[in-house]
Amino acid sequence: MRLQDKVTLITGAGSGIGRSAALLFAREGAAVIVNDVDEVKGLETVGEIIEKGGEALFIQADVTQPESVKAMVEVAIAEFGRIDVLFNNAGISGVGALHEIEPDTWDRIMSVNVKGVFLPSKYVLPYMMDRRTGSIINMSSCVAEMGLARRASYGATKGAVLALTKSMQVDYAAYNIRVNALLPGTIYTPFMENYLKTSYDDPTAAIESLKQRQLSGELGKPEDVANAALFLASDESKFMMGSPLYIDGGVVFGKNA
Ligand code: NAP
Repeated sequence: MRLQDKVTLITGAGSGIGRSAALLFAREGAAVIVNDVDEVKGLETVGEIIEKGGEALFIQADVTQPESVKAMVEVAIAEFGRIDVLFNNAGISGVGALHEIEPDTWDRIMSVNVKGVFLPSKYVLPYMMDRRTGSIINMSSCVAEMGLARRASYGATKGAVLALTKSMQVDYAAYNIRVNALLPGTIYTPFMENYLKTSYDDPTAAIESLKQRQLSGELGKPEDVANAALFLASDESKFMMGSPLYIDGGVVFGKNA
């Protein structure tokens, strides 16, 4: 039970990596506050956790909306009294070279992926500061470290999250709060399925070409990232501060040829 007695809040936990982390955190003894903008998917995650004997609560909120996020944190505190772990996971994809991106699309992806880290952190931090403990996990991506074709807006958001993580860590280290970032490579989730469908004529061929750019012969699974999140959430990672953690099958540091 690596998260025994911890209260955890995961944004975007109705699907993919967030759902996998919610199930894993609950299995490791945490109470899990499952956030998503989509009520049906969020409730499905909660149902699965409860069915397996875990503790979970769904709170619907859009991470881009200050009032919505503030209310979510207030409900969480009223219910559990504290938040030990905040996993800022919610995010959306964006495809296109810069000249193809509409200004509204740019604003939307910046809003979900960057403001969506800022707002939950802003409203959770005072409670962590009061108790002088906490772990915040921010979802970046390996695209923060490398150029990928037609990922300009998405890459900009994930680079911003990595920079934000480092600055946050400096400001909150004195409160014994750790802030680290996850940098996944290609993880097969509904998000990735959608990206493949909208970006390629032949998604099966695209999967093969995505595998070519990494060292592993397989694409990542949501559980691969959930396990890394579990490590950052637990006290086992107590000496990790402001760090990127790569879960990418060798995309960033390896070359196949
Ligand atoms: P996913 O399956 O699409 O799950 C993301 C969840 O976040 C969805 O349930 C989504 O709801 C929700 N969400 C979207 N906007 C939200 C908002 N404004 N407020 C609250 N919830 C919101 O995606 P995933 O692949 O698990 O990705 C999770 C995170 O990992 C994202 O930040 C993504 O950028 C990052 N990441 C993914 C990969 C990958 O290869 N999959 C690689 C690197 C990083 P809707 O479906 O209703 O929008």
